[in-house]
Amino acid sequence: LEGLMQKAPLLISGILTHAASAHGDTEIVSRLVDEPLWRYDYRGLATRAAQAAALLQRLGIGAGDCVSSLAWNTHRHYELFFAVPGIGAVLHTANPRLADEQIAYTLNHAQSSVLLFDRSFAPIVARLLPQLAHIRHFIVLSDRDCDAPGEVPAPSYETLIAAEQPLAWPSFDENAGAVLCYTSGTTGDPKGVLYSHRSVVLHALAAGLSGAFGLSAFDCVMPCSSLYHGTAWGLPFAAAINGCKFVLPCDKMDGRSLQELIKNEGVTFSGGVPTIWTMYLDHLERSGEDAGSLQRLVIGGSAVPRAMAEKFQGKYGVTIRQLWGMTETSPLGVISTPTPKLAARGQQATDEVIWTRQGRLQFGIELKIVDEDGFELPRDGQTPGQLLVRGPWTIERYFRSEKSALDADGWFDTGDIATLDGDGFMRITDRSKDVIKSGGEWVSSIDIENVAAACPGVKIAAVVGVFHPKWEERPLLVIEPHHDVSICVHSVLAHLEPHIVKWWMPDAVVIDQVPLTATGKINKKLLRERYRDHLVS
Ligand code: ADP
Repeated sequence: LEGLMQKAPLLISGILTHAASAHGDTEIVSRLVDEPLWRYDYRGLATRAAQAAALLQRLGIGAGDCVSSLAWNTHRHYELFFAVPGIGAVLHTANPRLADEQIAYTLNHAQSSVLLFDRSFAPIVARLLPQLAHIRHFIVLSDRDCDAPGEVPAPSYETLIAAEQPLAWPSFDENAGAVLCYTSGTTGDPKGVLYSHRSVVLHALAAGLSGAFGLSAFDCVMPCSSLYHGTAWGLPFAAAINGCKFVLPCDKMDGRSLQELIKNEGVTFSGGVPTIWTMYLDHLERSGEDAGSLQRLVIGGSAVPRAMAEKFQGKYGVTIRQLWGMTETSPLGVISTPTPKLAARGQQATDEVIWTRQGRLQFGIELKIVDEDGFELPRDGQTPGQLLVRGPWTIERYFRSEKSALDADGWFDTGDIATLDGDGFMRITDRSKDVIKSGGEWVSSIDIENVAAACPGVKIAAVVGVFHPKWEERPLLVIEPHHDVSICVHSVLAHLEPHIVKWWMPDAVVIDQVPLTATGKINKKLLRERYRDHLVS
């Protein structure tokens, strides 16, 4: 028996028309590469996105075609998030931080015929040009054309859309592809994850809930995760659904620039990887300023150092929530939010759990942990296992792959090792490819990093497993100190000793610059290579 309700498809254009009619005069503010601050509202966004969509249609883009962007967090990039999927085409958000060959690989794999890029990427586009087989139109996201010697000639987005009439959004199947993101390819070629309209809308609805970002029209949201990396955690869509003021920082993610926007625009909510918030915290500490209107920070992408959460909340009154997710989960998996049961145990006990868990079960994403033979492990908060996930915004198969990425019961293996407890809290102990196995037993690099990061003077702490003749692998700790600070290895070891079990103590501590990946995470692969023979030489 069928339900008798309307079958209106869940489309991204629906988010935009809602924002324009319910929150039409709510502001959107954007920094730009080489132009002054831009200011308009959701009504303006809707008009310009519909003009950009008309432009794309005139260039021959139709349902199922791919259009790529190479752009920062700006209002023009934001417009493309609606313009491209709005006409049934797919927006591929290329990641400019990847190596040239990988960017070219993703553009070719997507078979995009249009590339819209920020002026700061003109040199990359010029370098890649000989490899770009499919691109027919280059457009620069600027108010001026690209026509300098050595640049790929490209008309300006502003001139082109000014000549267009806004189109009316078409309706189509909610399962159509909408946004294509590639994983960063630290292990082989990048893999494409193609979000559908339905998955984007459901994900954005869930992201706004009180058990997740908890957004409302009183919030001013500034995404500090990149629009090109997992749609900046779905914030462009979740902010529009909830009518939040939206502030786009372009590429200026240093502490001082973020502080300027937080103070001037009244930012209440932001999210990003720990490295960004380390820089911001550093700015606050040096300048002696407060965090202004900032109320909540969601930090994820890699483990949140406990010391960072403590400082933000204790000294600056900013509530910290940890998020776990991956490109394959749109990317919001789970967020660590409190429960009445926890609250009854007091603030300190609540913080202890919230800061050290990656998240808590939330509707729309099921989690389970299994052993190497696929048998489910107990949810006792102790036993680590492979983390599997399932739900309507989790990947089914990679783009252009014939094979499902799931097991027979529809679960996706995240490649993470985690524990689950009876209250639904999940804690990542490692990424399976980063796991350290010493004498056959697992050592959690994340736990050691967490303690080391709290040692005075430490900017980044990274733990990797390196070869050991007796134990096969032993942990090695790499410390990057804050600028101008000198750190003594013995004081780090003395700091660790009371907090971690004896056999987890690193066999060596080295002071070095910690390399980061294209997505701002610690590049453990490189560190393992660099220090492979450190304990035998
Ligand atoms: P990649 O960096 O591989 O391109 P993602 O950004 O999708 O891709 O990374 C997802 C991975 O990041 C997860 O599988 C997990 O290992 C790690 N991760 C994400 N959030 C957290 C967190 N809060 N704590 C620890 N690890 C995390």
